Amino acid sequence: MECVFCRILQGLEEGYILYRGNGVAVILDKYPVSKGHLLVLSEEHHEGVQDAPPSVLARVWITASALAKVYRVELKAPGVNVVANSGGAAGQVIYHFHVHVIPRWESMRGFWSGRRVLGGDEAREVLEMLKPHITIVEEYMESLGLSEIL
Ligand SMILES: [Zn+2]
Repeated sequence: MECVFCRILQGLEEGYILYRGNGVAVILDKYPVSKGHLLVLSEEHHEGVQDAPPSVLARVWITASALAKVYRVELKAPGVNVVANSGGAAGQVIYHFHVHVIPRWESMRGFWSGRRVLGGDEAREVLEMLKPHITIVEEYMESLGLSEIL
């Protein structure tokens, strides 16, 4: 198995997993552009946003939107990017459908500027920061009748 996200989900590769359930997983980007840069993945392997079926798209995008709300409303980030890259020309590096949720604590200079390797201390800090708010994902799923395992 070569897909790094599938390997993380199977416990074969190290990764920081914030949430897993309802067909999605939320992990910390290993190369964050800001503190709290998240990736929302489908649990199933699909290559890109065009390949995942609608039920999976709904789960991934609603999770990303819920997390964007946590950043803006609860954690007071002045901005958030929610974006999927599809295809190498668009900057997709890992071919397993995922949506970036990037809180902007200050005005961004360039979209990917400031990208660096995630440190363990920062990762633990981000997980602690988000843990009290992660129930919003279940609430969003439930409100749409999506809160069951696929
Ligand atoms: Zn995969």
